[in-house]
Amino acid sequence: MSDSKHIHITNKTFCTGCSACEQVCAHGAIRMRQDYEGFVYPHVDSKSCIECGLCSKTCPQKQGRKQREEKTEIYAAYNTNENVRVASTSGGLFSMFAQWVLSQGGVVFGAAFTDTWMVRHEVAKIESEYARFRGSKYVQSDVTGIYKQVKADLQQDVWVLFSGTPCQIDGLKAYLRKNYEKLLTIDLVCHGVPSPKLWGKFLKWLKGKYEVLHFKDIRFRAKTNGWEKCMVEFDCETKGNAIDTIRFAWAEDLYTSLFEHGISLRPSCNQCKYRSIVHPSDITLGDCWHFQTYAPELFDNKGLSMIMLHTEKGKQLFKEISTSLVYKQLDYKIVAEQIAAEAGYYSESSGAREFYMLQNILPLKVATKFAKRKSLVHRIKSKLNKLIRR
Ligand SMILES: Cc1cc2nc3c(=O)[nH]c(=O)nc-3n(C[C@H](O)[C@H](O)[C@H](O)COP(=O)(O)OP(=O)(O)OC[C@H]3O[C@@H](n4cnc5c(N)ncnc54)[C@H](O)[C@@H]3O)c2cc1C
Ligand code: SF4
Ligand code: SF4
Ligand code: SF4
Repeated sequence: MSDSKHIHITNKTFCTGCSACEQVCAHGAIRMRQDYEGFVYPHVDSKSCIECGLCSKTCPQKQGRKQREEKTEIYAAYNTNENVRVASTSGGLFSMFAQWVLSQGGVVFGAAFTDTWMVRHEVAKIESEYARFRGSKYVQSDVTGIYKQVKADLQQDVWVLFSGTPCQIDGLKAYLRKNYEKLLTIDLVCHGVPSPKLWGKFLKWLKGKYEVLHFKDIRFRAKTNGWEKCMVEFDCETKGNAIDTIRFAWAEDLYTSLFEHGISLRPSCNQCKYRSIVHPSDITLGDCWHFQTYAPELFDNKGLSMIMLHTEKGKQLFKEISTSLVYKQLDYKIVAEQIAAEAGYYSESSGAREFYMLQNILPLKVATKFAKRKSLVHRIKSKLNKLIRR
């Protein structure tokens, strides 16, 4: 057994790739490197490491989860600004908090597409900059160097909104190691993230198939046919200008079908510990898919959010923006039971590791076919097992 104090990944399901360990190391001894699936993990350079153990102590996955004393409030809600709501994934609530923070002279951190259509966390100081954070990007976002930037802004005593996946919020908080009054954290009801390498591979496949010269915009959850039947859209310039927008129904293209079935997720996502009402953030946002049970009167097919307010800060800021919202409070117990019932679905998803192995040796389309078949067989088997056990 190794007695080194630095972080060492022996089981990949344990590491979310939050990069808190890398960013906390003052000796620059840790680099986040992609493995063959394309997910990042920390690698320690033993020559630069002084064995202080700070990286291991910081890792949020090594800390027990603290139960909150405050009671989470849950609402179904949407933004009354139609343009913003339609451009957002769910009810357009993220933008309202971003707008509030900017109006206080603060800054907003979120996930944006880069020039090469990869996904990276960036900072926004004005509205036109944070508009790039709107819309879910179903790819793991690169947060290299971002927590340091958040800390520098907090030390200037300005409001900072950091939005990301629950594991990124946990990573940021572990990195900061103290509470800041002006830090607002917003995370998501998180299905999981595919690897940037797979996303790059898919874009390359798409370019080849449709003779794309370059992409102009990408929308994972376009509301062209409404929120319920969302579309995946790629605005592009193609050879001979044959197509302006490549369009798929959700989960009918290679990429989102793998995502939907949990086949392309990071190992930590298949066993994620954040699938409950307890989150590390002030506020959690998600789609209110169970609107028929929770709030049928709020459904107009333009997007409805479910918002969980975990802290007093979250509740206070919700009050501040609520004049521009249509909302209804939901029953905590009913939502908690629903989330608990759905959490099992993800851990049962199988075939992700096999898929990543196959896509390294087979064409993407063939590997996808194999993996989806295996995942279906697995789901049927586990359903049958459950029925037999009853
Ligand atoms: C990877 C992922 C998985 C999700 N899974 C579910 C789910 O299973 N069920 C559900 O109800 N909701 C899920 N969501 C949340 C949902 O899609 C909406 O993002 C959320 O409801 C907020 O919508 P909005 O209309 O308020 O704002 P939007 O403007 O759509 O919000 C965008 C926000 O998401 C952040 N974001 C976008 N892409 C990423 C990324 N790759 N990594 C980190 N942060 C990102 C932005 O920083 C911004 O804060 C997921 C989101 C993501 C990114
Ligand atoms: S033990 Fe200390 S020096 Fe070594 S990698 Fe971890 S934080 Fe850096
Ligand atoms: S701090 Fe984050 S990236 Fe580092 S080992 Fe822990 S989970 Fe992985
Ligand atoms: S599913 Fe869990 S581990 Fe995966 S990105 Fe989301 S919060 Fe992180």
